[in-house]
Amino acid sequence: MTRPVLLVTGGSRGIGAATCIMAAGRGYDVAVNYQSNAKAAAGVVAACEAAGAKAVALQGDMADATDITRVFAKAKAALGPLTHVVNNAGITGKSGPLAEAEIAVICECIDVNVTGAILVAREAARALIANGGGEGRAIVNISSVAAELGSPGEYVWYAASKGAVDSLTIGLAKELAGHGIRVNAVAPGITETEIHALSTGEAGRVARLAPMIPMKRAGTADEIAEAVLFLLSDASRYTTGIIMKVAGGR
Ligand code: NAP
Repeated sequence: MTRPVLLVTGGSRGIGAATCIMAAGRGYDVAVNYQSNAKAAAGVVAACEAAGAKAVALQGDMADATDITRVFAKAKAALGPLTHVVNNAGITGKSGPLAEAEIAVICECIDVNVTGAILVAREAARALIANGGGEGRAIVNISSVAAELGSPGEYVWYAASKGAVDSLTIGLAKELAGHGIRVNAVAPGITETEIHALSTGEAGRVARLAPMIPMKRAGTADEIAEAVLFLLSDASRYTTGIIMKVAGGR
């Protein structure tokens, strides 16, 4: 039987890396996209290979249309036609009130999280439609509970960008259902990854916010990846167009 082929954007660290490694352990071959951290991507590839999968690291900026097209083409050349895509690459920008935010921070976030996510979804739709009939093909977009909460004082532009991801998910699910391709989103709550220290600029963010989470702790990248793998898999074969919160009750 041919193995499913998964591309994860932003697969080198955090939720994307956990998704790649978990998918490799469940029978997928995996294309690991990254932006700049080649060492981290190589580590994820090695972990996927150790789990028995074929894997490849592919550099590319998921805010750049040319890079997106190239990464999809290289993934197909290396592993065969794609069957699954996780649209995960995302950033927040330095946190703070909107009135004090730099224009460049807002624009970069929208470029990656909205324009980039839509272009990745477009390329994913093309690749999965071209891959032909049969059930089992699926796209999972990574949203955030920020879309619902609005993230006041933190990064309302980021929350708005994830609202766009939710709309993208709902619309594309309806467009692709007739092709047998499912499109869903996972909306994580606060998850222990480097995004807090490196992207928001607040190393202690998880510890500060954990007491406000009903379950009183942040999630782990593996706990988010479990939901992603469910929505990629045939176990969710009648589910499309949903935003699945994995947020400890937030
Ligand atoms: P992370 O630990 O900061 O990792 C980000 C990943 O995305 C890295 O692999 C990074 O590549 C890649 N990346 C960033 N910008 C990129 C670009 N322009 N092109 C290609 N790759 C890019 O982040 P994370 O916490 O795992 O977040 C993953 C997703 O979950 C994001 O969409 C985020 O908004 C969402 N999310 C996270 C949380 C949370 O609390 N962590 C909560 C809700 C939603 P390099 O390694 O090369 O830098």
